[in-house]
Amino acid sequence: MSAEQSIKPLPQAGILDIAPYIPGKSKASHGVKTHKLSSNESPLGCSPAARKAMISLAEGLELYPDGSATALRQAIADVHGLNADRIVCGAGSDELLTLLAQAYIGPGDEAIYSEHGFLVYPIAIKACGGTPVVVPEKDFVADVDGMLAAVTERTRVVFLANPNNPTGTYLPFDEVRRLHEGLPKSVLLVLDAAYAEYVRRNDYESGIELVTKAQNVVMTRTFSKIYGLANLRIGWMFAPDHVVDVLNRIRGPFNMNGPAIAAGAAAIRDQGFVDEAITHNERWLEWVSAELSDLGLGVTPSVGNFVLVHFPDEDGRRASDADAYLIERGYVLRQVGAYGLPNALRMSIGDEEANRGAVAAIREFLKR
Ligand SMILES: *Cc1c(COP(=O)(O)O)cnc(C)c1O
Repeated sequence: MSAEQSIKPLPQAGILDIAPYIPGKSKASHGVKTHKLSSNESPLGCSPAARKAMISLAEGLELYPDGSATALRQAIADVHGLNADRIVCGAGSDELLTLLAQAYIGPGDEAIYSEHGFLVYPIAIKACGGTPVVVPEKDFVADVDGMLAAVTERTRVVFLANPNNPTGTYLPFDEVRRLHEGLPKSVLLVLDAAYAEYVRRNDYESGIELVTKAQNVVMTRTFSKIYGLANLRIGWMFAPDHVVDVLNRIRGPFNMNGPAIAAGAAAIRDQGFVDEAITHNERWLEWVSAELSDLGLGVTPSVGNFVLVHFPDEDGRRASDADAYLIERGYVLRQVGAYGLPNALRMSIGDEEANRGAVAAIREFLKR
């Protein structure tokens, strides 16, 4: 139906093909204590300095924030040794991913991401009329050759979450470099490094160096994961000048609120807090992965703050059965059918009580 014939306003082509993003559930069954392990949030909360900075902004809510988020960009630049002019902040990295799609993808254009890639990518691509091109993974890892083979004259953007959510796997940086080298210079490579701080691997890089050397690479980061500030919506992007210029033209002039700017600036300077989160995660990621493997479940090796757990393909023992069983006992994990993983659950690394309790409940579930 054309827009003129319609009896109601119609959205742009592509928008009604979007499957709305479904966030992780946050409540267990009635009457049991909820352990939320569904959204990769930090079990340690946030830096006390960040909370204090945010509260100090409760005075002055009538004032517009600094539209350039200068204090936050400068803090990020200082800590990472970057030029603050090449940083753009956003209301979560989701906003930046969406703005990048809006700026570089139009009707008829294609954008590539990997099979079990982050679901914000297809939403952002379709919202601007683009066509998502999904490339199969190998053993739950993005396949560089496959992604390069999928490039056509219409390709505008390649989105790569490294590490990826919900698989927890990563591409060694040699592979990212090989992907970049194989792409036409006109294609923007978006490296989504939401879990970079958690990775303990010598062959991993978040992409900062590649961004400084290339004209077609950007890296996005977030304060929602290791910094424990998901509620405030803070993300940032490090990009070449020309991409920074483009995003600054289309973003909302006050897309970052004052409490978020202040809290983010304090959080990134509190390396002690980040180190504690890394130590906690290292210990419990290893423990949870080993325990679940010992139960005979398939556990995809993860470098993030979560694990992808594969369930038996048997009546009563599938991922959806496990999810229902766990929710009744207070453990809220994430179903990942929308990611093409109908028989797996993603479990965030929680505090000790949640980790031990969830593993014990899964053991009971499998024994029934
Ligand atoms: C959580 C996550 C983000 C961050 O989202 P925010 O909008 O910054 O909260 C980005 N990419 C991936 C892959 C994620 O898992």
